[in-house]
Amino acid sequence: MASLRSRTPRTCARFLTTSILLLATASASVAQEEQPRRPNIVLIYADDHAQHALSCYGSRLTTTPHIDQLARDGMRFTQSFVGNSICGPARATILTGLHSHAHGQGSNGPGFRNDLPTFAKLLQSSGYATAVIGKWHVSSPPTGFDHHAIKAGNYYNSKFRTQDGTEPSTGHVTDVITQRSIAWMKEQSERDEPFAIWVSHSASHRTWMPALRHLPMFDGVTLPEPATLFDDYATRTGAIRSAQMRVSRDLFPAYDLKLPVTGKGILDNAATRMLDTMTDEQRRAWDAFFGPRNETYPSADATDAERTRWNWQRYIKNYLRTAAGLDDSVGAIRAFLEESGLTRNTIVIYASDQGFFLGDHGLYDKRFIYEESMRTPCIVSWPGVTKPGSTCDALVQNIDIAPTLVSMAGVNAEVPMHGTDLSPLLRSESPADWRDAVYYQYRGTEPNSRTSHLVARHEGVRTARYKLVHFEDDDAWELYDLEKDPHELRNEADTEAYSEPRAALERTMKKLRTEYGVE
Ligand code: CA
Repeated sequence: MASLRSRTPRTCARFLTTSILLLATASASVAQEEQPRRPNIVLIYADDHAQHALSCYGSRLTTTPHIDQLARDGMRFTQSFVGNSICGPARATILTGLHSHAHGQGSNGPGFRNDLPTFAKLLQSSGYATAVIGKWHVSSPPTGFDHHAIKAGNYYNSKFRTQDGTEPSTGHVTDVITQRSIAWMKEQSERDEPFAIWVSHSASHRTWMPALRHLPMFDGVTLPEPATLFDDYATRTGAIRSAQMRVSRDLFPAYDLKLPVTGKGILDNAATRMLDTMTDEQRRAWDAFFGPRNETYPSADATDAERTRWNWQRYIKNYLRTAAGLDDSVGAIRAFLEESGLTRNTIVIYASDQGFFLGDHGLYDKRFIYEESMRTPCIVSWPGVTKPGSTCDALVQNIDIAPTLVSMAGVNAEVPMHGTDLSPLLRSESPADWRDAVYYQYRGTEPNSRTSHLVARHEGVRTARYKLVHFEDDDAWELYDLEKDPHELRNEADTEAYSEPRAALERTMKKLRTEYGVE
């Protein structure tokens, strides 16, 4: 209907006549060829998978061969960001194409406005078979999906909640999500309507528990530390100092570092619960791996720097091992599409809910507007549209995903979304009026402050060169010149030489707040 509506009446009439003639003279199969099936859409969505943990984004730490192959087959967005670097709000943004204040889920708590239009509802009502499998974390139940299977457990042997009840699973959750997704796609491939699936992984979220087959990765290897592991936060405002997410002191011994459960740590009970979901065989393999390696934990007379270095090696290896399952998932899904003859008419997107600090600035976790957290992978393979191996340097954001999915599906709907359809960029066009800044807001204060890392509320804007941040509670400002200071180590907010860029950035922030209706 979209194409009919956009034609002039005369052209439209000629189109209709041609169609009728074709139907009268051709076989049904030929008629189907005249109107090709709309593309299937597979959105593979990771959790906390930072750009700098992907080799196609230049990671120094690991290789991600299947994701890199997707980038070679499609387009990689080099300047891809989130609008709020935290799990629940990011998923609500994927659904609605709206910043957090507008979809209502500003933190990992309640608030999502389930009455809003979402990509899932729009695709479903246009005839797509729709599914979400894996992590949900939106504060209302899944709506707009014909099938859902929501993870209701941890990394091993997680339960899944479906429309038919709760189902058990056996194995590592990344593998189970992948297998369930492939099984659903297989069913759809035998039907006439196109399908759209949100493969929503929970890897590589804390507390990083790899599949057993990935434990040997990096064993005996000393990975290269980030340049800012021992950042002293000079020139920064108080926010980064008061946050509780430091590799040196805020990783929990059993929960995060996989040291023996002592029953004394604040998250020891959680660690116990996670280990208790393993089968005896899984647990034996786990303990056999970590037991002897825990002997290397620094002794009481070790320096703070030695302990930080040990913590970082332990943390980053488990994070990357867990993320290796994501790369396997991409490989398995694409192999299925290829074997099933679906590749040619299936769009595959790889993205994450946000980035992550991989020891950068001495931190783990996300939440902050800083680069490692605000950046997120975005890779799209759209056969026949995206140029293989292409990159796009335009500023894009997670608000753009929903309008892009709606456009890809050919849905003709007037839906107010903050994001912009990426299709012109995917066609290698360069729209002259593309945005020159992205907006960011972090409002997340979860009830349990100890696990919410005490990150102060803030908002900001990022342009191709600069970033301006406002921490509202302290009325404190930070400004970074990313061209001269890519690691964001020199806050120039009060530097005289940056008064003009700061004034321009403040105007940009005001303009974007108005555009997005931020109160
Ligand atoms: Ca996340």
